[in-house]
Amino acid sequence: MTKSSGRGNIFIVSAPSGAGKTTLCKRLIGTMDKLKTSVSFTTRKPRDGEVRGEDYFFVTERKFRSMIAAGEFVEWAEVHGNLYGTSRKRLEKVINDGYDVILDIDTQGARQIRNTFENGVFIFILPPSMTVLRERLEKRMSNTREDMERRLARAVEEIREYKMYDYVIVNDLLRSSIRKFESIITAERQRSSNKDSAWIEKNIIRR
Ligand code: ADP
Ligand code: 5GP
Repeated sequence: MTKSSGRGNIFIVSAPSGAGKTTLCKRLIGTMDKLKTSVSFTTRKPRDGEVRGEDYFFVTERKFRSMIAAGEFVEWAEVHGNLYGTSRKRLEKVINDGYDVILDIDTQGARQIRNTFENGVFIFILPPSMTVLRERLEKRMSNTREDMERRLARAVEEIREYKMYDYVIVNDLLRSSIRKFESIITAERQRSSNKDSAWIEKNIIRR
């Protein structure tokens, strides 16, 4: 039973780089039904193993700026020296198709979404400590040292924003974090506002 509007929910997920947001989101997409991520546009270069159109749409700065001018982004921000944005058209399509969607975006983007989609569910992922965050960034080894230091410096600023979010998950043990993340999505799906009142009337009340 889907809700009366048939539209999916929006889960906004932010975390300092390296906290494990991508790992968690990918696991959930693989295990939960009716859940997708929104593929963002970015001017960042692809990392090894990243797939165009799956991880990101990789575009030039010129193209990105023309999309801003045309109002194509529901939110966009400069993060670690690159531009990132969520396509309004793509996001609307996914939720109109009835899918719940995870927006893996930074705190600046989350703030913009807060003003647009008042029913969004905001989740912040924290690392267990700054030491572990550094270790995870080193393990990923896809960043230069300079880029890594920039990400760590920015992490502190981002963590200060956690109170803007409805939920906080400390990503220590992966399995436990996945369970917490799943629980949030499952609970949100059971909200009375997410239920199809016509279906309940027809199949339960009138029967
Ligand atoms: P983000 O998307 O937040 O930048 P990633 O998902 O790329 O972070 O994770 C950064 C690194 O940490 C990856 O190598 C990933 O495998 C690892 N990682 C993620 N979550 C955990 C966890 N709970 N325990 C140990 N390592 C983790
Ligand atoms: P990365 O370069 O590690 O993939 O992402 C860096 C940061 O950019 C992460 O915090 C990620 O959530 C954020 N990000 C990715 N896509 C978007 C987007 O479309 N909009 C915004 N505002 N941030 C994004």
